[in-house]
Amino acid sequence: MPIKMIVGLQYGDEGKGRAVHYEAKDADIVIRATGGSNAGHTVVANGKKYAMHLLPSAIIRPEVLSMIGPGVVADLKILVDEIEQMRKAGVKVEKDNFVISERTHITFPHHRQLDRLYEMLKSEKVGTTGRGVGTTYEEKARRTNLRMHDLFIGTSELKEKIKENLKVYNVLVSEANKLIEDGIYNEEKFPAITVDEEYNYCMEYKEKLQEFITDTHVIIDNAIEDNKLIIIEGAQSFWLDNDHGDYPMTTSSNPNASGTASGAGIGPTLIDEVIGVIKAYTSRVGNGPFITEQKNEIGDSIREWGHEYGTTTGRPRRTGWLDLVMIKHTKNTSGLTALCVNHLDTIGKFDSINVCIGYKYKGKIIKHVPIDKENCEPVYETLKAGWNTEGATTFEELPKEAQEYINFIEKYTGVFVKYIGVGADEKRTIIK
Ligand code: GDP
Ligand code: MG
Repeated sequence: MPIKMIVGLQYGDEGKGRAVHYEAKDADIVIRATGGSNAGHTVVANGKKYAMHLLPSAIIRPEVLSMIGPGVVADLKILVDEIEQMRKAGVKVEKDNFVISERTHITFPHHRQLDRLYEMLKSEKVGTTGRGVGTTYEEKARRTNLRMHDLFIGTSELKEKIKENLKVYNVLVSEANKLIEDGIYNEEKFPAITVDEEYNYCMEYKEKLQEFITDTHVIIDNAIEDNKLIIIEGAQSFWLDNDHGDYPMTTSSNPNASGTASGAGIGPTLIDEVIGVIKAYTSRVGNGPFITEQKNEIGDSIREWGHEYGTTTGRPRRTGWLDLVMIKHTKNTSGLTALCVNHLDTIGKFDSINVCIGYKYKGKIIKHVPIDKENCEPVYETLKAGWNTEGATTFEELPKEAQEYINFIEKYTGVFVKYIGVGADEKRTIIK
């Protein structure tokens, strides 16, 4: 049985959750591999809408084992709240269908405050979700952070580790508060956080999470041996990758395909399919370059028709035309084997659409993505749209122009389009 991976190729919110849910119908295990509660993955299934932040998108399939991998950072409170909300919505979250790696890092209350502090100090804001995700990764890199496993060590050892973890925070906060007192920043002061507060946070949520925490490597090893179907679920996306994306307007982890494999704990030679998810247009949350952005009526229409408001934050997303140069760049950097193109229904509402096929850059036309993306202007090809995908269940049943758009994407990128989203509901998926 193959191991498949689903990753985003734009700026997140391409509909990865929906693609994972779809692929998970035959899967044994789905592993959420990277990111934290800054992710928002939506699945519309059984007539209901589910929004996942930390839980794998397969959680609504009780027969699948949903796993949070070592590459994820998890806010314990948000995770417990999400489990409880899912249960209220009738979704099974029990130890036989959900596990968390003991290596998964913990996001603490002070990480959230640090997130606010860094954004306060930065002249050019990244526009983070403020959930302490980047600051958890930072603390992980500093090698002072705690993992799920630490919830089970003795009281004094745990308190010692928390104390070490809090040191930098408390030093920074006392300086930051002076700047606020001096009126240099107009922000609410940062609270000092004690060891006991964070210890209690650990204990409160340990009780609710302990049954799920385990050594996921053993499960994965056995599953590979037994030829089980494993899906690796990416979060965020290629262009938010800290190494390959629009640095510094990126996320703090590596959501590209290789980083996603690493986050799950599965080596590259074992991965049979890398499915890159895109929208038939582009959207972006937060700041950073966006070559095809439409700050006009076109962008407003995409936002309204595509409901482009963040799942996690509710923030209106920036919107624009599909940038194929950006997608082509991910073909080899991600080792793509297929594409999933979502929102074909949304983009078809325009009579004609633009698609970016090159950039004007330093007096030339180029077909690759330079590091200084902000100096690029889009070169468009205009295609006829005005299609209606309602009722179509096969590629052949799609209107001719819609088929041509998909063929255009395939031809430009050299990557096969495996499936197409023509509506938010899982049933509105077309296999090519
Ligand atoms: P993710 O973060 O990549 O999982 O994507 P999100 O769930 O944050 O955002 C994608 C949004 O588009 C969600 O609201 C989905 O329900 C919706 N969606 C996904 N695919 C389609 C599609 O083909 N058509 C329409 N109309 N909506 C879609
Ligand atoms: Mg999202």
